[in-house]
Amino acid sequence: MRVLFPGSFDPLTNGHVHIIERLLAIADEVLLAVCVNPRKTGLFPAEERAALLREHFAEEARVRVLIETGLVALAARREGAVLVRALRGGAEMDCEEQQARINRRLGAETLFLLADPAYLHISSSAVKELLAFGGPIGDMVPPRVAAALAVIGR
Ligand code: ADP
Repeated sequence: MRVLFPGSFDPLTNGHVHIIERLLAIADEVLLAVCVNPRKTGLFPAEERAALLREHFAEEARVRVLIETGLVALAARREGAVLVRALRGGAEMDCEEQQARINRRLGAETLFLLADPAYLHISSSAVKELLAFGGPIGDMVPPRVAAALAVIGR
């Protein structure tokens, strides 16, 4: 089975990493799609988010990183992959339900993984929020990401 896990990954967090490791345990190939949303101004440009993902999973031949500017359902169809999203709670479920129904109409199925409780407090936006106030983020992101954040001084 080939799965496609789409996200902003801005930045990659330990929560994302845990989901990707779980996917590697159940799928043959894991495609990570860095989604470009022209309406969102990101911390890192998509190329750098993709580079951090590639570096983190450099030893894992079954991980492939893509940058997607279009609909993820079409990317999943093109790649012959099943979409995967993670759920941290009910609010996320509400958003994801409609998205998954639309993607199914576009020809792509979605599988959901429940986030492990140990990672529920982590999100890219929490990392950004903490950084803005000089808070500690070292236990929320992989060391390479922490180093990249230190370089851009945020
Ligand atoms: P998006 O903007 O598309 O939601 P994110 O990068 O924020 O992109 O999230 C991508 C995926 O990773 C989503 O399915 C989200 O639920 C999941 N995710 C984010 N943070 C965590 C976490 N701490 N634990 C598990 N899954 C997470």
